[in-house]
Amino acid sequence: MSRITEVKTYDFRFPTSDTLSGSDAMNKDPDYSSAYVVVSTDADDGLSGNGFVFTIGRGNDVVCRAIDSMGQVLIGRNVEELLGNMRIAWDLFVHDSQLRWLGPEKGVEHMAIGAVLSALWDLKGKRAGKPLWRLLAEMEPEELVATLDFRYLTDVLTPEEAVDILKAGQEGKQERIDNLLKVGYPGYSTAAGWLGYSDDKMVELAKEESQVKGFRQIKLKVGQDVEDDLRRLGKAREAIGPDVALAVDANQVWDVPQAIEWINKFHDFKLNWVEEPTSPDDVLGHAAIARAIAPIKVATGEQMQNRIMFKQYLQADAFGIMQVDATRVAGPQEVVLEYLLAKKFNKTVCPHAGGVGLCEAVCHFAMFDYVAVSGTMEGRMIEYVDNQHEHFVHPTQIRNGNYVAPTAPGNGTEMTLETAEKYLYKG
Ligand SMILES: [Mg+2]
Repeated sequence: MSRITEVKTYDFRFPTSDTLSGSDAMNKDPDYSSAYVVVSTDADDGLSGNGFVFTIGRGNDVVCRAIDSMGQVLIGRNVEELLGNMRIAWDLFVHDSQLRWLGPEKGVEHMAIGAVLSALWDLKGKRAGKPLWRLLAEMEPEELVATLDFRYLTDVLTPEEAVDILKAGQEGKQERIDNLLKVGYPGYSTAAGWLGYSDDKMVELAKEESQVKGFRQIKLKVGQDVEDDLRRLGKAREAIGPDVALAVDANQVWDVPQAIEWINKFHDFKLNWVEEPTSPDDVLGHAAIARAIAPIKVATGEQMQNRIMFKQYLQADAFGIMQVDATRVAGPQEVVLEYLLAKKFNKTVCPHAGGVGLCEAVCHFAMFDYVAVSGTMEGRMIEYVDNQHEHFVHPTQIRNGNYVAPTAPGNGTEMTLETAEKYLYKG
């Protein structure tokens, strides 16, 4: 038996605002940051569990403090008992009767819970010698479903239905694992599209990302000035040609009528989707936008606070593309539930990534989905930006525009502290 001996947080902040990398209509000067946690045990294997929350600067310390407060609850706990049924850890935090008042199930506390649960799943994967995508995909359907919390979901998805979905996903699973290891999983690039970039820099990067790196979609930030958007979209479409997909992202900047009017000027550019047109809490607003801008699809989800919001979006058919995020919700169990909901509603999921650690983290869920849930990569792709990967022990690898399937045990988010430590926030 082993016990948890330490839960240590690190407030990493990278000065990305210096180059305006990451800038968009709502977030003009982000400093990509990570509230990173290391969970240590007294086991002889020397393994640690790693998790994090992605933020864009100020407030990263608040997330660290929230994780610290949860760490106190974990110290001395029996590791094998926790990892043997991850539902125990979920209930410990998500259903803490006092902590819950701070959400419930949303915001800083929920994200901090996600970091802690991710770290425990990372440790579970490392002990099993499997990358997280494979650990999840190779759990027995009943065993995985037993870790999931269906509270507030059973009007659309019951545990029995989830087991049935996962059992159906067993068919052809080994072939899909082999295919995934061979070809990887499609990515798309946002590297060219930051609003702070000049037209020339955007065009140069759009060409490089599509023609050299092989991405089959690029995405531009929009929503600051409609004439600028039209000019940039024209140049981007010319740079990438007709066969590479193009999407745009407004990062919640519009009200509903403004979104409809603005996006309907974009039809000439054959956009695949418009992302985050308005507040992520506005289910019916998104539904109205989706109806008014077809055939351009609405995409959202990176700031959707929990599985119950995704449920409502799906019930209202309020988006065409569902974008899960690895650190917005309470860890792997909630992300798995989101994928099961998407499968139930036959919705395409294209995960949010790009920020420090997000590519490393979220690809595991997309790959788990391909192997064990949806069984398809059709129309699906994971966002990619070449940011801060050098600080990870097993950084994301891209080959021909595809994410290479990770083979290292764990969730992929372990950082190289020697290089990252110079980005520790000093206050
Ligand atoms: Mg976005």
